[in-house]
Amino acid sequence: VITDRKIKRHDVRQDYDLGKLLGEGAFGKVHAGTLKRSESEKAPISTTEGGESPCPEEKCERAIKFLGVAALKATGVDDEINTMRRVSHHHNIVKLYDCYLHGDHFVMALELCRGGELFDRIVAKQHYSEREARKCFAQMVEAIGHCHAHEIVHRDLKPENLLYADVEGTPNGEVIKLADFGLASIIHEDQHLKSICGSPGYLAPEILTRQGYGKEVDMWTCGVILYVLLAGYPPFWDPRNRERVIEAKIKRAEYEFDEPAWKDISPSAKELISQLMTLDVEKRLTAEECFEDHEHRHDRSGAPEWL
Ligand code: ADP
Ligand code: MG
Repeated sequence: VITDRKIKRHDVRQDYDLGKLLGEGAFGKVHAGTLKRSESEKAPISTTEGGESPCPEEKCERAIKFLGVAALKATGVDDEINTMRRVSHHHNIVKLYDCYLHGDHFVMALELCRGGELFDRIVAKQHYSEREARKCFAQMVEAIGHCHAHEIVHRDLKPENLLYADVEGTPNGEVIKLADFGLASIIHEDQHLKSICGSPGYLAPEILTRQGYGKEVDMWTCGVILYVLLAGYPPFWDPRNRERVIEAKIKRAEYEFDEPAWKDISPSAKELISQLMTLDVEKRLTAEECFEDHEHRHDRSGAPEWL
């Protein structure tokens, strides 16, 4: 039962004209939507500070995410809304404007990212140069660090859930936005999460070994994504794609910087990946540590000078 009073109880189509299908995940179908004129003066619910014009463009376009009953039953939506509201004022996190509950659908009006998924850009380029990867990785860690600072674990980081604000070559064509808070959870200092969720290849080992886990799981996954960006293939895989084989490798942190893909990649990039994809959560870099200034880092065993 959703009791949140800020949720609108009418059909989203009263406020938006729906356009093409932008994407589909395990839980949501996402369409483009244009705000009808009469609605365009209202402020976004996720912005706590006022002042900013909610819809500066002539035609105000959003991404409209639909969740059906099945998804509502599987994951609920309270965490998705609450976590997003808490962090979506950040430049690298998709903004939440409005929520609707109507019939058997829950709907979110989100900031539209025109550039598509990081996933598709990696596929198109095959892999990123170190320069390109650095730009992408830094924004991703910024976004996740902001979540962690607000006691939120994302738990579903992957290239399908990192979106480009705009198409390549345009002014915002390199801006990354973290999306899909469907598995996100609010976490308190001493609390450990238990449920097993996420996408197989991106799961942290401590999720698989059912020890109870925390924010560090997102940092492991940042390492996996950086690996994918630079190599163009995942660190943990099996020629027959058997999930238990992949999981066994993750539990042992069994991955390689194999040739030819890694031959010309700098040692500091590899070291950064190793410090993220490390089994010991105490030794794993935090989002903050990824950005610590270099002088500081050298005399401790801090992050390498790559970012
Ligand atoms: P799911 O929980 O089903 O994975 P997502 O929130 O990840 O739902 O949305 C599914 C897909 O829809 C994304 O992978 C992406 O391709 C597209 N999408 C989601 N949000 C947006 C957005 N704000 N702008 C553009 N496309 C989006
Ligand atoms: Mg998704």
